Amino acid sequence: MKALVIEKPGQAVIKDVAYPKPGRGEVTVKVNQVGICGTDVHIYKGEFLSPYPIIPGHEFSGVIHEIGEDVPEYVTGERVAVDPSLFCGKCSYCLTNRGNHCENWGALGNTVDGSMAEYVKVPYENLVRIPDDMSDAEGAFIEPLACVVYAMHRLKLKVGDQVLLFGAGAMGQQLIQALKTAGASQLVVVDLSVEKLAMANEWGASHTFTSDKLDEVRELQPRGFDIVVDATGIPEVIEQAITFTGPVGKYLQFGVTPSDAFIKLNPFDLYHKDWTLLGTMAINHTFIPAFNWIKEKRIDVKPLVSKTISLEDTISFLEGPRDPNLLKVQIKI
Ligand SMILES: [Zn+2]
Ligand SMILES: [Zn+2]
Repeated sequence: MKALVIEKPGQAVIKDVAYPKPGRGEVTVKVNQVGICGTDVHIYKGEFLSPYPIIPGHEFSGVIHEIGEDVPEYVTGERVAVDPSLFCGKCSYCLTNRGNHCENWGALGNTVDGSMAEYVKVPYENLVRIPDDMSDAEGAFIEPLACVVYAMHRLKLKVGDQVLLFGAGAMGQQLIQALKTAGASQLVVVDLSVEKLAMANEWGASHTFTSDKLDEVRELQPRGFDIVVDATGIPEVIEQAITFTGPVGKYLQFGVTPSDAFIKLNPFDLYHKDWTLLGTMAINHTFIPAFNWIKEKRIDVKPLVSKTISLEDTISFLEGPRDPNLLKVQIKI
């Protein structure tokens, strides 16, 4: 079968590889649609904990092609999306609902071969059947939305909270919809791009500002916001963003920074303003609620797909440079 293989950091090729025959408790999925994630670019550049060679791809939907032994319920031809999480289920973190910190953590497309290929084998427990009115593109969007759902679990937003969000990319646009749905009152969004801010307005931002207008954001809430979220992952932005956190406010780091980045933080503010600083690491048993959110059309991800490309074109996309105005790019296999 055809697959995109990252042979080593900086070297991706399209090549013929062995068909992944499903083992016990596994099914092989014929892949239809795959989202490209920042993590895939990190794997391509050698900035992640992946072994090489590896087939990337962890945001995907497809059709069940072959079923291994000891797989109940499923039949070939069913349309599915797949939770890429490979939590061991046995370690102390898994046993205390912290699977995203599993001592034996793995994920399809990150530590084992993923979906940038014609076929991928997956544990049947990770499958979710997708209904006829859910497109392949939406099915491939459940995984990124599952990261947003986990962020919302971490945030515990209270109805009526006033929220400031930095970053209106594909993840930011989902966060806007999630924050609005969860009951934010004022929802202020900051980004460099006027086009992305226009979309933020459509999804429920109450106010939008370009990044050079932070003075106006300060005027709007001189004492700060109940919740501040960074979805840029840019250290200079984060340093600014935290200072907008109000009394007894929460700051959430959603965007992924380089692992060696540092910021300045005033510990007096942290003490004096009763702040809570939060992180949110990927997915933690949040794939099914994300699926339900899309199924019930509470969150619309379809307009977030800026472009659909071929597996062949994915190589130059990974190499870059990439258009910063693109939201999500998906691959049609
Ligand atoms: Zn991802
Ligand atoms: Zn574990």
